[in-house]
Amino acid sequence: MSILVTGGAGYIGSHTLVRLLEQGESVVVLDSYDNSSPEALRRVMQLTGRQLEAIEGDACDEALLRRVMHEYAVESVIHFAGHKAVGESVQKPLKYYKNNLESTISLMRAMREEGVKRLIFSSSATVYHCEEPSPHTEDQRLGCINPYGWTKFMNEQIIRDCCQADGELSCVLLRYFNPVGAHPSGLIGEDPNGIPNNLMPYICQTAVGLRDHLTIFGDDYKTHDGTGVRDYLHVCDLAEGHVCALGYARAHKGCEAINLGTGTGYSVLDVVHAFEKANGIKINYVIGPRRPGDLDENYADPSKAERLLGWKAQKTLEDMCRDGWNWQKKNPKGYRGE
Ligand code: NAD
Ligand code: UDP
Repeated sequence: MSILVTGGAGYIGSHTLVRLLEQGESVVVLDSYDNSSPEALRRVMQLTGRQLEAIEGDACDEALLRRVMHEYAVESVIHFAGHKAVGESVQKPLKYYKNNLESTISLMRAMREEGVKRLIFSSSATVYHCEEPSPHTEDQRLGCINPYGWTKFMNEQIIRDCCQADGELSCVLLRYFNPVGAHPSGLIGEDPNGIPNNLMPYICQTAVGLRDHLTIFGDDYKTHDGTGVRDYLHVCDLAEGHVCALGYARAHKGCEAINLGTGTGYSVLDVVHAFEKANGIKINYVIGPRRPGDLDENYADPSKAERLLGWKAQKTLEDMCRDGWNWQKKNPKGYRGE
């Protein structure tokens, strides 16, 4: 029996593979390499000393999904595959609705046909309605402000409805807050295409000299220092959350949405200062205008994850900054440096 990991060559997928292989699980990855490189999988195998099966293909392809499920005796699926750039989703909404919805629908259909009963889905904190206060609890009102967010919202609904229709299904909707950092080995990490949209990769690229300076998007938010507050989570803690969710899905039926965050919010300036302190590097920054759509603060109430999954984030902001920088300096051009 094996676990199908769609989008396993990506940032969060590759870190989760390490934990799955370390736990002795058999894994088959399906990835189009649309936003990743097979090199990530090679390094996962190097890191763990274990083999995995890798198939290049599209998670929207139901026939392929069925073949893979059949051939590898798949018992559970972790579904990371999807496009994730918020700004691009505003420019190209159909690209996002097509890929992110079609892949989930194809997957649910293939699971039904092949009798696969467990699914862990990558959702996001972005599904919470912008008027709902932090810390976010899973029962708060949902609502989105961009097509990417709506694809997560709709996928959650699709999966919930499938669980309603089939009492044998067991699905966990993991709402990630802000994953950052990298495996401490520096072998795998986040490898964004082009100019990073997210804070931590932008800081790392500034530190390594690929960017001249960081622009802080606004310092007039209602936060302790005026800059935006987020719930940064070490990607290895997030990976562990998937292993715990899989254990939960194996023992329970039904559908649960669960936050994965630390429960602590840090501002942009907190992160800049923590990075400088952890790594002894000065980050050039300027204060710029607010980025449209940004909230003052966004952080999790992670107590449901602790209660249901027995999961709690272990790593500190300092760990995130140190490990993110270790990956960046060893791989200044990401996997493309190979
Ligand atoms: P990523 O882009 O690094 O990984 C996604 C992977 O899916 C890539 O390897 C890509 O090539 C693959 N992929 C995309 N469409 C595919 C398709 N149709 N068929 C096969 N493979 C396909 O992204 P990530 O940061 O690892 O995110 C993983 C998941 O978590 C995504 O669904 C993302 O929306 C979600 N998520 C990410 C964050 C974050 O900040 N990184 C936050 C919340 C949720
Ligand atoms: N941010 C910033 N400059 C950047 C990128 C991000 O000031 O170049 C800020 C952003 O306004 C937010 C925080 O950093 O307050 C986290 O942004 P990110 O895009 O990483 O995550 P999200 O806003 O999607 O939670």
